[in-house]
Amino acid sequence: MTSARYDAPMSVRSLGLSDDLHSYLLQSTLRDHPALHALREETAHMAEGRMQISAEQGQLMQLLVELTGARKIIEVGTFTGYSSTAMALAMPPDGRIVCCDVSEKFTNVARRAWTSAGVDGKIDLRIGPAVATMDKLLAGGEAGTYDMAFIDADKANYEAYYERALQLLRVGGLILVDNVLWSGRVIDPKIVDEDTKAIRILNGKIQKDARVTQAMLPIGDGLTLARKRA
Ligand code: CA
Repeated sequence: MTSARYDAPMSVRSLGLSDDLHSYLLQSTLRDHPALHALREETAHMAEGRMQISAEQGQLMQLLVELTGARKIIEVGTFTGYSSTAMALAMPPDGRIVCCDVSEKFTNVARRAWTSAGVDGKIDLRIGPAVATMDKLLAGGEAGTYDMAFIDADKANYEAYYERALQLLRVGGLILVDNVLWSGRVIDPKIVDEDTKAIRILNGKIQKDARVTQAMLPIGDGLTLARKRA
């Protein structure tokens, strides 16, 4: 079992947008932070750089942090820290993000970004398989205490992460599930690898899940929002 994201498809821009329209979207809406800008530049030169979320998705996630008033977030799959840095910048000074990842190499980049953005005090990095980390949080009495969860790690464990995130969230809390359109692979019947199957299964499950109110956004590589109901 692994929480790394070695396999993620291109998500550094929203699916289906032309170069010109994507440029316009960013020029028209992006409020860039120097630390986020630098992190995009750094990660773009890495072989795995396509696993970084898009700039427009980072900005959406900042808005969602404000909308939910999130002070406590769990992130499953931190990679080089773009999403956690973006969310932490949008959180109040007492905000906290538990960041789960298995990679020291990638999270060392993230550590520098957190420091550069001045949000390192909001980050609680847990290196290790995220299912075990989440089970430990639940066993420690943290069920119902999180405002948001961002799931963006190995796809085979997506359902396990979703179920644990749902337990960790308070009523009204928000789960974000990344890569739900999987570069379009979800609609190709010839593709039956475990990751793609796991994404299809979770997408179908969330659509029918009466425990949440949900919507799937075609931003980045597809992002599902699921709000925990009472
Ligand atoms: Ca992703």
